[in-house]
Amino acid sequence: MPADYHTHTPLCKHASGTPEGYVEAAVAAGLDEYGISDHAPCRPEPFDDWRMLECELPEYLDWIARAETAARDRVIVRAGMECDWLKGCEGFIGELAGKYDWDYLIGSVHYLGDWDFDNPKWLGKWAQTDVEATWSEYWKTYAEMAESGLFDILAHPDLVKKFSHVPPGDLDRFYDPVIEAIAANGSVIELNTAGWHKPCTEAYPAPRFLELAASAGIGLVISSDAHAPNEIARDFQKARELARAAGYRETQRFEKRKRSTEIL
Ligand code: ZN
Ligand code: FE
Ligand code: FE
Ligand code: ZN
Repeated sequence: MPADYHTHTPLCKHASGTPEGYVEAAVAAGLDEYGISDHAPCRPEPFDDWRMLECELPEYLDWIARAETAARDRVIVRAGMECDWLKGCEGFIGELAGKYDWDYLIGSVHYLGDWDFDNPKWLGKWAQTDVEATWSEYWKTYAEMAESGLFDILAHPDLVKKFSHVPPGDLDRFYDPVIEAIAANGSVIELNTAGWHKPCTEAYPAPRFLELAASAGIGLVISSDAHAPNEIARDFQKARELARAAGYRETQRFEKRKRSTEIL
């Protein structure tokens, strides 16, 4: 089974479960590795209402330690964070990277300017937005995140489609430059199964993006983005088949920010 590196904890205020609950779910799913990657703090605080505060980092590390205790030798616990890529965040991400011996850092684009476009709270804003322009801005931001080289894993590549706002025509015009930026930088992308359970009803990224990524030699991890224990490794069989159909034959593992490969 591939590892599941993108999972949350209640510290972000929109996930549920205990470390023990997640560990039991990971063991039951047959995972070799369970990686914890809650929404990292952002500055200035309070930044929004869906992440841990900086002062809660020790509590987060306790949560990880509790998971390790619960896991014993049944599943390997990995420690990471899901960091938001924001204008001018580089210094702070560097600081966060030094706070613990992380196994990996995940980078995510959830914000375009001050709009967290994937938040159902602001769904109305989509109606006032030009989808083509929003997509252009999203992918430009995503490429910049890749070029920063700060992250091991780039999360949910086409999250911008979450509520099914997709411009007409061939989407390669958005995909090509970002594929090039990711390939040049060496970070890996995720096949995030949560998209199957969102209005877009498609995993992130779309099959075409996955195909281009595989051809470009971009590494892959399969992730659930679990916000509850019963979402651990959700749809992983379906995801493996999708990855193989796109041309992938291996997935990536991370330990202390060093990569290795695993046969898919
Ligand atoms: Zn979340
Ligand atoms: Fe995310
Ligand atoms: Fe997440
Ligand atoms: Zn996420």
